[in-house]
Amino acid sequence: MPRLMGQMMQMPLMISSLLVHAARHNGDVEIVSKRVEGDLHRYTYRDAELRSRKLAQALARLGCEEGDRVGTLAWNGYRHFEIYYGTSGSGLVCHTVNPRLFPEQIAWIINDAQDRVLCFDLTFLPLIEKLAPHLQSVKHFVLMTDRAHMPAQSPLDLKCYDELVEAEDGRYEWPEFDENTASSICYTSGTTGNPKGAVYSHRSTLLHAFASAMPDAMECSSRDVILPVVPMFHVNAWGLPYSVPLVGAKLVMPGPHLDGKSLYELFESEKVTFSAGVPTVWLGLINHVKQNQLKFSTFRRTVIGGSACPPAMIRTLEDDFGVQVLHAWGMTELSPLGTLSKLKAKHFDLPKEAQRRLLEKQGKVIYGIDMQIVGDDEQPLPWDGQAAGNLVVRGHWVIDRYYRRDDSPLQDGWFPTGDVATIDADGFMQITDRSKDVIKSGGEWISSIDLENIAMAHPAVHEAAAIACRHAKWDERPLLVVVKKPGQELSKQDILGFYEGKIAKWQIPDDVVFVDEIPHTATGKIQKLKLRERFADHVLPT
Ligand code: AMP
Repeated sequence: MPRLMGQMMQMPLMISSLLVHAARHNGDVEIVSKRVEGDLHRYTYRDAELRSRKLAQALARLGCEEGDRVGTLAWNGYRHFEIYYGTSGSGLVCHTVNPRLFPEQIAWIINDAQDRVLCFDLTFLPLIEKLAPHLQSVKHFVLMTDRAHMPAQSPLDLKCYDELVEAEDGRYEWPEFDENTASSICYTSGTTGNPKGAVYSHRSTLLHAFASAMPDAMECSSRDVILPVVPMFHVNAWGLPYSVPLVGAKLVMPGPHLDGKSLYELFESEKVTFSAGVPTVWLGLINHVKQNQLKFSTFRRTVIGGSACPPAMIRTLEDDFGVQVLHAWGMTELSPLGTLSKLKAKHFDLPKEAQRRLLEKQGKVIYGIDMQIVGDDEQPLPWDGQAAGNLVVRGHWVIDRYYRRDDSPLQDGWFPTGDVATIDADGFMQITDRSKDVIKSGGEWISSIDLENIAMAHPAVHEAAAIACRHAKWDERPLLVVVKKPGQELSKQDILGFYEGKIAKWQIPDDVVFVDEIPHTATGKIQKLKLRERFADHVLPT
């Protein structure tokens, strides 16, 4: 018997369709951007769609052909948003480069991706002028500003972004092509070795946008005002430049102004309801709001992820400011969203404290992603909330391989995340560590995240990191590195005493060192490798 086939239209999932939909159905909804130039820019989805079409025309005029990579070094703003759509929408590939990486890494990444055009904010002009001689593939350097802000002189043959766009007539139709075509590339921040590129497709990006906007995920709606603090160069701002136009919400972009004061003012003036960012950004915002005894008038929900969100931060945001935290886990290789913590209906009857403990985990997978924890023998471990194993995933928006690498990263069809986690019977996943950061004491594992979470609950602690320190008898023992809150008195004994009764005695750190600052990676994660190097010769008390 021949198989009966479905008889529905075949419409490829095109990134351009998100913006076309937003322009048609929410055409008057605003995109508001704090510019590098210092002022606030506002326009609508209708304007953004037209300018994105003009940009597609301009890039074609510069000689870009299907599949060419267009690099960006830019903050969150409307021009960057236009580049997302003008490139992918016209069959080019948007390559967002993280400007916080070392200059050599930035050059390496641009060369590896073979970017043909490089678009960048004014902030990065000095950097690009320095790097340009090393960027062999780049044919055009486009400064993302208007004529008035173009520099009088530059060693580069600079093009003005606004002039390029404004020279076009917009008579351009978004093309339709295979939905599996590459749409954008992000490089992992790679703490060891060179960064690796994850190449997303139109299909994977759209499916991720659909799934992440759902009520049990980020719960984006047209009634929201959404401000992605997470940069557009950190895994496409977690997909928000796609899922926000999908629902037609107002989009607010902070540009380079990510300090607590600037963010707070933008949240208030634009009536932001929903945001997303890594824990370190919230530290700054919370400090500002607390120190100045401020309140949020419209801000109600935020996604926090990228590294473990300390429970103390979740509680502060909820109890003091009425902001619900959605703790999420993901990675560059997952576009990035994998799991997110939201209660199931049956959990509503639980006592508040039990609910909170669930919500502090990294949460349940969203549909489209499948996960398992496996032992070192690659055999699945039970979902009992106790067994900790290597987290592996597969799904519609998980990479199959890295850009220009022949070897497959997969194990039996699953992507090994490098994270160690538990999963409970309800499917709530909790990351206990990055496998490289686990502290192995006498054959037992100590979760560095657990140690940090407890320290972060101490009122005098600004930030804490737990690392393994070499130990003659136990191989490794935990050392806690602490940044105090300004003006606070805190002794080693205070902190160690704070652990009593909260974890097993043998897991309590052996020592505490106080530092002025903890180093972070380009995506806001604690640089454990650097800390381990710095304290490699630290002598633990006996
Ligand atoms: P990146 O690809 O730079 O986004 O980094 C991904 C890695 O960040 C993951 O493999 C985790 O180690 C870490 N990560 C992301 N979100 C969380 C989270 N909510 N809790 C703990 N670790 C996280």
